[in-house]
Amino acid sequence: MTPDLLLRDGTLVHPASGTTETADLLIRNGTIAEIGTALSPEGEVPVYDASDKLISPGWIDMHVHLREPGFEHKETIATGADAAAAGGFTDVACMPNTDPPLHTRDVIEFVKERAADTLVSVHPIGCVTKERDGEELAELADLAEGGAVAFSDDGAPVHDAGLMRRALEYSTMLDRPIINHMEVPSLNPSGQMHEGEVSARVGLDGIPGLADDVMIARDIELAAFTGGHVHVAHISTARGVELVRRAKARDLPVTAEVCTHHVTLTDAAVEQSGFDTHTKMHPPLRSPEDVEALKEGLADGTIDALCTDHAPHATFEKEVEFAAAPFGITGLETAWGLIGRELIDPGVLSVTEAVQAFTTKPRDILRLDPPTLTEGEEASLTVFDTSTRWTFTEEHVHSKSHNTPFLGDELVGRPWAIYNDGQFLQQEA
Ligand SMILES: [Zn+2]
Repeated sequence: MTPDLLLRDGTLVHPASGTTETADLLIRNGTIAEIGTALSPEGEVPVYDASDKLISPGWIDMHVHLREPGFEHKETIATGADAAAAGGFTDVACMPNTDPPLHTRDVIEFVKERAADTLVSVHPIGCVTKERDGEELAELADLAEGGAVAFSDDGAPVHDAGLMRRALEYSTMLDRPIINHMEVPSLNPSGQMHEGEVSARVGLDGIPGLADDVMIARDIELAAFTGGHVHVAHISTARGVELVRRAKARDLPVTAEVCTHHVTLTDAAVEQSGFDTHTKMHPPLRSPEDVEALKEGLADGTIDALCTDHAPHATFEKEVEFAAAPFGITGLETAWGLIGRELIDPGVLSVTEAVQAFTTKPRDILRLDPPTLTEGEEASLTVFDTSTRWTFTEEHVHSKSHNTPFLGDELVGRPWAIYNDGQFLQQEA
């Protein structure tokens, strides 16, 4: 932990302009004091050799579950922040499906207080409805005043269309997006995995892509009608991507995010892994055609942001029969290595585009001021590379939970350090 630091010879990535430059970057007292070549600062300043590294404004994961309050055996705000930092994130936005849910101002403020001492900046997302039960609108203005950056009932959709309409009308006045977990519940009464060839063969109840697509189509029309910003949480289907593409062509206030695991694995992984419960998540791993469409959506800008939907569960909860296991996997520590392997290496995204999907674009959605690598700005940055091939093992897990299908995987590209809130945190090689 050091407030003053010289990052020597790094490649600075500026996502706002899409440019890069090689430079030294000097931080003094948490502020970017100087950017230039061959800097020789006065006094003793620790030097970090960044000659084979990239430096960008700090990354944000806009969709994580930190589990506190209520489920501290899975994760706490502190351990979730550790996992985020290990993954190169200076910021996370956390979902409100806690117990109690983040449905009142005091619970939002509790999260902010618990996060006050963490190196990672935590941005709570408030509930759309009281008790997150889809019945009655929460006090959205109060939540926004307490620090909620968006509204969502994630884990469940806002299934009542009239309520969603009113939520969008209020959120527009508050200049916040509604992030909807896109699913029509009656189209997925009991699904365990993607409904398709594999589910039919192995005899598990399917979750049809249709359940997501119908809700996305509904919400696009609600966005058109109200002018309210609809953000599609964890988009997973080809049809969903096409719907968002058309909404954007109509200039509607519709944005979307995709999880790193949804561009990495298909429903085949469920069978191939022998029904490993770490292949069970919601939305489920989809078909190869869906995965292709998600990548195309990222490449052409239809999908704005990358995220993880980091969803920790304790070992005893996941070590059960497939049908009995909870949905979700952790994702913060593997996000960048999967992006390197699945998106940057194969040429789906450039490094700058991948960085934009973790910096400027999610912050635009959440109306957060993006940090920049500019003299005089508060230092919030991520140091990383796109070339290191490394095997993800238990020692890289900082989350309280280990429910990831990627243990033992070779990943490409590593986050090496973050600087945020006046502190520098470096990863072990
Ligand atoms: Zn969700």
